[in-house]
Amino acid sequence: MTTAGFLTTAATSSRNLEQIKSYCAEDVDGYKAYLEASEKRYKVGFEGLVDKPFDSLMALFRFLPELIKLRSDRSVYRLVSRYIRDPQLRMTMSFHPLLIGGNPFSVTSVYTLISYLEQRWGVWSAMGGTGSIVKGMAGLIEGQGGKIECNAEVEEILVENGNAKGVRLRDGRVLHSDLVVSNADAAWTYRHLIDARHRKRWTDRKIERSHYSNGLFVWYFGTKGQYEDVPHHSVILGPRYRGLLDDIFKRKVLADDFSLYLHRPTETDPSMAPEGCDAFYALAPVPHLDADVDWTEYAETFRQRICQRLEDTMLPGLSDRIVTSRLLTPQDFQDRLCSFKGAGFSFEPRITQSAWFRPHNRSEDVKGLYLVGAGTHPGAGMPAVISSAKVIDQLIPAAVAQHA
Ligand SMILES: Cc1cc2nc3c(=O)[nH]c(=O)nc-3n(C[C@H](O)[C@H](O)[C@H](O)COP(=O)(O)OP(=O)(O)OC[C@H]3O[C@@H](n4cnc5c(N)ncnc54)[C@H](O)[C@@H]3O)c2cc1C
Repeated sequence: MTTAGFLTTAATSSRNLEQIKSYCAEDVDGYKAYLEASEKRYKVGFEGLVDKPFDSLMALFRFLPELIKLRSDRSVYRLVSRYIRDPQLRMTMSFHPLLIGGNPFSVTSVYTLISYLEQRWGVWSAMGGTGSIVKGMAGLIEGQGGKIECNAEVEEILVENGNAKGVRLRDGRVLHSDLVVSNADAAWTYRHLIDARHRKRWTDRKIERSHYSNGLFVWYFGTKGQYEDVPHHSVILGPRYRGLLDDIFKRKVLADDFSLYLHRPTETDPSMAPEGCDAFYALAPVPHLDADVDWTEYAETFRQRICQRLEDTMLPGLSDRIVTSRLLTPQDFQDRLCSFKGAGFSFEPRITQSAWFRPHNRSEDVKGLYLVGAGTHPGAGMPAVISSAKVIDQLIPAAVAQHA
């Protein structure tokens, strides 16, 4: 697998400063101070926490003084607003938690670490798409003698006397093992794969009452001809910010307006589309399935509204140039990917659902069960999800050695 990186560190920083200077010069110093604040949170939140097990209260207490010192109870938007005055700039500096399913107005300001992380390490893209990461991982597993079975849905994690004993698949087969690692959504794993009598902490009530991330409406499409001026990553903001986020996260209603992230990987990797064509996806954050939306009915209407917005803004003439099109709605996230409430990123990463408060990587309820992926510590997004695998890479050998 090869990767492509974008404008890193110094280049990004000076380009950002130039743009801020020309747009709102009085925020330049504030932006510099904000990046310093972001770096502090990166040191604690990323370097300190991200790939370490967080399954004991001791681990929590060790970090608590630093988290308090950094005023982690404050939201991302509140921290950004301490440094930046312009409302539009506040928006562009604070929307990043949406990339991992959090509301910038309620998730802990520790997540401002993303600003520094992106500047420090750059933004990377796998050539060949995320599928090439999956192929790389599959090759690693098979190269070590592991076997992968696709289209084999786990219907139940078998538990005896509090110990994991294997899994039962939808086709009825039973696979026996004293060690089970679930990469399915953590909320789904507990709610639907483990009988309630085996769960003391992650009861049905606790799972139902938890807060979940936003849903995602994703429209993948290909065009004949290319939109050469459109960059790999664009954000097309709607007229409202806080109001729209309240609709999505609090009121759980699908609003008339929306904001979009537009992805054009062909800018970096032309192999993502046939020669002379473009590949895109447009993503709109929407409420999860607690909202009263029948996506089987409404998906095509919503797609057309997005198409119209794109035609009016970045992709003129789009509707005449579409050659392939595919939709993913919160209903698909639930029905096809087993994501609880069809949320895009599992549990919302608010402070009371982060670190020790998130489902632990070593199950609190079932011995021999381990969890990885977006719903566990540290959270959603590829870097975090891969870090969760690094955590169990520490936990499982230690547990096996203790047993031996
Ligand atoms: C459109 C989109 C764009 C994104 N872009 C980025 C990005 O640019 N950068 C970034 O860092 N992150 C990005 N993310 C987020 C990132 O992809 C996710 O956070 C990450 O993939 C979550 O990994 P996971 O292993 O927890 O879950 P998944 O990747 O969803 O994997 C879980 C797998 O388990 C399977 N499964 C579930 N239940 C069962 C069961 N019972 N039996 C068998 N299999 C089951 C599912 O089918 C699924 O294949 C994006 C997400 C989306 C939706």
